[in-house]
Amino acid sequence: MKTIYFEKDIPRILATKAAAKVCKPLLFTSLNAVKYRDNLPDPPLPAGDWVRVKNIACGLCGTDVSFFKATTGTNSALEPIPGSARTYLGHENVGVVTEVGSQVTELQVGDRVTIRAYMAGCDSKGISPRCPYCEAGDYNFCLNYGAPSPYPGLTNTGAGWSDSFIYPARGLAKVYDGITDEQAVMVEPSCVSVHSVLCDRPKAGEKILIMGCGTIGLGIVQALKIVQPDCEVWAMVRSKNKQELAKKLGADHIFVGDPYEQTVKATGGSEIYKGMAGNRYFFGGFDRIYDCIGGDWANHTAVRLLKARGTLMKVGHHMNAISFDETPVWWQELRLIGVDAHGMETWEGRKLYTFDLVQEWIRDGKYTVDGFVTHHFKLEDYKKAMKLAMSGAPDVIKIVLDCQ
Ligand SMILES: [Zn+2]
Ligand SMILES: [Zn+2]
Repeated sequence: MKTIYFEKDIPRILATKAAAKVCKPLLFTSLNAVKYRDNLPDPPLPAGDWVRVKNIACGLCGTDVSFFKATTGTNSALEPIPGSARTYLGHENVGVVTEVGSQVTELQVGDRVTIRAYMAGCDSKGISPRCPYCEAGDYNFCLNYGAPSPYPGLTNTGAGWSDSFIYPARGLAKVYDGITDEQAVMVEPSCVSVHSVLCDRPKAGEKILIMGCGTIGLGIVQALKIVQPDCEVWAMVRSKNKQELAKKLGADHIFVGDPYEQTVKATGGSEIYKGMAGNRYFFGGFDRIYDCIGGDWANHTAVRLLKARGTLMKVGHHMNAISFDETPVWWQELRLIGVDAHGMETWEGRKLYTFDLVQEWIRDGKYTVDGFVTHHFKLEDYKKAMKLAMSGAPDVIKIVLDCQ
């Protein structure tokens, strides 16, 4: 098996963290806790409900970059949760089932699949019985996130950034006929965008700002126009090509320049008041903001650009404690809603996995991912892909690794 994983090796993790802070070139050397191996033995399926997948391609996501930079802070809620010895990178994949266990009924050899439950839990570890959340399809809230694997000797599972991998069948979603391989790698990130909109639906007439229009923000533009066509969408994005794409996908306005002045102009807010140290505040603002950036500046700014009882949807996040001025939160009775990946949705009277809804929308031409994949690299060239992802180059939307 050719594969890439994050090794739970404390000195190496500390070295990776230090390199990410003070000497980025060191990240691309052998000291990084993320390792490439081209000779791991392919393990037998550990149980009858597992399958083997030959991978075609897999996207690069912010989560993979966080492993590469070992960014999870010692103050993050994630940090005390015991992880496995190896975390295999890549979850935005498309592959073909090559072997099925004796109890698998939902998949057959030859089916194309993508990973649905990547986060550690019942459906990625093969825990039975599943916890009540996973049983209901809300695997993003799994109670067994920190539970040990039922197969402790099983370390070489692989994942999206591998030429093949093994997985519990119920942690995978079948790729629909009519969806191309390139569209299939975009299904998972599109699920994040669609779930962000469906987990707290905007009301008619809302003025909405999307902060940060990469893959997820651009998807939110589209999802908003499907779920609530009667809303006005501003897209905060610097690069020209993403501005154009945002407009093509339904954004009503591009939000550039000073965020306070622009918000007052867009929403009819009050005068902007300025404090002694340049601190600014005004009254009024957007009904809803999707923060796809995360971190200190984005949180500090977003809560100030919302009107009274406005809603901040926290989509982008850093796995670190941050600090921001919470005054607008209580003063204006703001709502803060976190968004974690995807799970189950209710749409037009049906309850279904986000993965099924998104695939229907892509297949039926309601939602597009055309133009999102901008770069391809070979699996073994993952460091080049990481370098490009971390460069902030304006033309990058989705980078894909070809796995064979
Ligand atoms: Zn992702
Ligand atoms: Zn669970």
